[in-house]
Amino acid sequence: MAGIGATASRAASETVAVLLPRPLKGAYDYRLPEGLSAPPGSFVEVPLGPRTLIGVVWGPGTGRVATKRLRDVTARLDVAPMPAGLRRFIDWVAAYTMATAGAVLRMAMSVPDAFAPERPLIAYTAAESRPERMTPQRERVFAALADGPPRPATELAREAAVGLGVIRALAEAGHLRRLALTPRALGPGPDPDRPGPVLSAEQSAAAAALAAPARDGGFGVALLDGVTGSGKTEVYFHAVAAALTAGGQVLVMLPEIALGAQWLKRFEDRFGGRPWEWHSGLGGRQRRQTWRAVAAGEARVVVGARSALFLPYPALGLIVVDEEHDGSYKQEDGVIYNARDMAVVRGRLDQAPIILVSATPSIETHHNVAAGRYSAFHLPRRHGGAALPTVAAVDMRATPPERGRWLSPPLVAALEETAEAGAQALLFLNRRGYAPLTLCRTCGHRLRCTDCSTCLVEHRLASELRCHHCGFVMTVPRSCPECGSEDSLVACGPGVERVAEEAESRFPESRLAVMTSDTLASPRAAARLVEDMVDHKIDLLIGTQMVTKGHHFPSLTLVGVIDADLGLAGGDLRAGERTYQLLSQVSGRAGREHRPGRVLIQTYTPEHPVMRALVAGDRAGFLAVELDSREAAGMPPFGRLAAVIVSGADERKARATADLLGRRAPRNRGVEVLGPAPAPLARLRGRYRFRLLVKGRRDINLQAFVRPWLRSVSWPHGVRIQIDIDPYSFM
Ligand code: ADP
Ligand code: ZN
Ligand code: ZN
Repeated sequence: MAGIGATASRAASETVAVLLPRPLKGAYDYRLPEGLSAPPGSFVEVPLGPRTLIGVVWGPGTGRVATKRLRDVTARLDVAPMPAGLRRFIDWVAAYTMATAGAVLRMAMSVPDAFAPERPLIAYTAAESRPERMTPQRERVFAALADGPPRPATELAREAAVGLGVIRALAEAGHLRRLALTPRALGPGPDPDRPGPVLSAEQSAAAAALAAPARDGGFGVALLDGVTGSGKTEVYFHAVAAALTAGGQVLVMLPEIALGAQWLKRFEDRFGGRPWEWHSGLGGRQRRQTWRAVAAGEARVVVGARSALFLPYPALGLIVVDEEHDGSYKQEDGVIYNARDMAVVRGRLDQAPIILVSATPSIETHHNVAAGRYSAFHLPRRHGGAALPTVAAVDMRATPPERGRWLSPPLVAALEETAEAGAQALLFLNRRGYAPLTLCRTCGHRLRCTDCSTCLVEHRLASELRCHHCGFVMTVPRSCPECGSEDSLVACGPGVERVAEEAESRFPESRLAVMTSDTLASPRAAARLVEDMVDHKIDLLIGTQMVTKGHHFPSLTLVGVIDADLGLAGGDLRAGERTYQLLSQVSGRAGREHRPGRVLIQTYTPEHPVMRALVAGDRAGFLAVELDSREAAGMPPFGRLAAVIVSGADERKARATADLLGRRAPRNRGVEVLGPAPAPLARLRGRYRFRLLVKGRRDINLQAFVRPWLRSVSWPHGVRIQIDIDPYSFM
């Protein structure tokens, strides 16, 4: 016995637990070879099966496996160790979301070559010699090089409109010279001492209150709650400046970073330098550079989408979550988490203050303010004396559009007036494509996705039918696939393309543009469209929720909402809240400068509390009703929810597993298990889906309830069980 004890204690001193970025059960023990030290946080290379992987030292070896059976750490990498705050955060997120720590670590290591030594960037320049045979392609390459600096092959190829092979061949033959470039100089960093605009008294008060914790450090959450156009961005920039002056790193989270061109420009105007960006649109080299700059503390300000939370900040001094109510902060696949909520956790672990920003804060945040957990600062007025727009409902029962049309007479009249006044208008419909449903007139057949239980959406510009859930695409058939009738398929209902078609026929003189994720291929195209809107090169903009996100269009005076009831249809927990937020945000685009704004909301239910609150501008009233009904039902934020989604390609197996889970649900005071039931989206990507909903009192630890429950059940191969803590989607 004594011998075993001695081995164990010696093992603990020379072994380490290494967490790998894989969905494995936990960290694995490895032996540290003589002479190698690897304190917690070190990035190390270890063997796993036949492969070598990079992982992070998570702590001393657990001693679960005898040391002599362990494999060796092969190398310690020459990068800054992962900060303790991020390691604690990864463990915390894993425990909360019930994902494995390795799956969460993977989000923090989403930069495959961050650890490899810097590869020099190869650029090309013209050599003296010219090829004997000059093709037009080759000429374009030399012409491109004649003006401008040496460029990497991909850039050069794009500019000269030639294939990479042309460039490679010229280089091989010695007509182009290869140069190794040093990484691009970063330009000046943001300067916190530059003066910002002069703030109003209200703005100054909020700015001072937010800047104090950013300067002094320490955890705390503040809500910056201001109407659209009240200058929230200018105000939180003060806190950003204060955190920078105090030496901290700042993370600003935005919901759709791809749309952040206006935000980036404002930041640069204010601070005289660019922030570092972090989002899915970055190339490999930029990701690597940014990751390393964050780890080295050189990146002082990062603006990013939700994954920016998992960067290795060594000195986090402030996190700002702009548009904190936005649903896109919820990641719905892989590790299912809410980046807004996890930002608060990260701030607590790193002792950094958090600022949540919104004109329509989430119910959860309101509740946290009311309970005294968060502080709140209000900006009740628009900057520069601009008034909030007037909002009116158009009762579609009383004043319907003509058959086959979607714009009601009052909205058409308002559009005419706006055009005559030389102002801009915006039509909002939260539905991409031309029509949400294609139906056979002869037999009633609906065109559906082959892999999902959804109808295909016609995209007429692309002459395609698309599934918005799985990406399935087909061309529009000439005849009904069910009964074979020719020319009997009809498009039902409107999408933005169809509204654009109607607007075009009604207002042939107007310059029209459509803004959706389908029509804008790149962030650059989106930025250009926004610019054209600002410069009034567009009279009428038609778009999906993409148009609601924070844009400032000075000459926009009219907003028309085409189908305000759309989001209420499902009737899930957050339908009312989400609709209120979305319609307030889109309304907030109207009349942001000198000309007063006006909003018309087309609805079949003008008596609905959401519509009434929007028309009356009665946010407090809406909140009171919503909070009351949530409290009465024991729903969040007064209770907790966790969704359990069981799916499988084999419907019978998936259903059997869901039923078994339902039967095995432990009885526990204060927790209810509802279901299983087929999910509203009953089939997705070929998998049949069943849902259970766990509803618990606020003081109940739902994870501790779910964990042993899942362990008590085994399920067949091919069936997957996902846990969604604090669900936003009930599909
Ligand atoms: P919000 O984020 O609350 O919708 P913004 O911060 O976008 O509001 O401000 C709306 C507009 O008013 C922007 O063009 C902004 O530059 C301008 N603005 C806000 N506050 C000031 C100020 N104190 N001085 C000058 N311009 C301001
Ligand atoms: Zn048919
Ligand atoms: Zn599909």
